[in-house]
Amino acid sequence: MKPCYGQEPGPPVDLFPVTIHFHGWLTALIKRVRRSNGLLTPPLHRRTSIKDLIESFGVPHTEIGSIQINRQAVSFDHIIEEESSVEIFPLRPTVNVLAPCLLRPKPLAAIRFLVDANVSKLAGKLRMAGFDTLYSPQWHDTELADIAEKKQCILLSRDIQLLKRKKIEFGHFVRETLPAQQLAEVIHFYDLSQEIRPFSRCMRCNGTLTPVPKQEILAQLKPLTRKYYHSFHRCESCRQIYWSGTHREPMENTLKELIQYRPLPY
Ligand SMILES: [Zn+2]
Repeated sequence: MKPCYGQEPGPPVDLFPVTIHFHGWLTALIKRVRRSNGLLTPPLHRRTSIKDLIESFGVPHTEIGSIQINRQAVSFDHIIEEESSVEIFPLRPTVNVLAPCLLRPKPLAAIRFLVDANVSKLAGKLRMAGFDTLYSPQWHDTELADIAEKKQCILLSRDIQLLKRKKIEFGHFVRETLPAQQLAEVIHFYDLSQEIRPFSRCMRCNGTLTPVPKQEILAQLKPLTRKYYHSFHRCESCRQIYWSGTHREPMENTLKELIQYRPLPY
């Protein structure tokens, strides 16, 4: 719902003011409404949930780490009452999606990403680092929301409207614009640096890679690859062949980026 300023058509409604304070980088997400250091005082309809209130300011629920009303932690479905002082804090690294919390009581069973087309190159980089990553340029917003729910994924996107969808419980607004930086952002945000497994995922299809003897694939190799490389992996799904020129060298550059990465403020 949109914030009400007392000009709604229809029957008279019972309005009351609350004070709402967005913290950290959430203030950058607030749109259309007067910003004053994140402190806002909109009049509200009765029976407004805190989730609706937050999203009425343009802030997706996926970016919220905790909510306090009159200094008490509350969940998204909490109904706001008169004279409430609402404090909204962003999710801040490091985020553990495998453990329950008040806002997300049902954690994920495993780390699995779903990548929106607006950060498409991040998909290949996540797979190169060994993370289970679903991606198709064909998927539109409704499909992405359905997949995020059914396959229990963390949706990575730069589309604020998409991240507001109810079905998307776990999501992250990717703030970096360069793919290598985006990978560093995600790894830092979810504290995954110890989970990097090069040569475990196919960059093309997300299938699992297994070692394959060079003799078995000799006919598929170009002369220079045949001459200079001796260790190979093959995708179990699409049969793509990988060697250190395809994974290790790009991965070494990625690791350098990770070490040098300066995390964004939250
Ligand atoms: Zn594959």
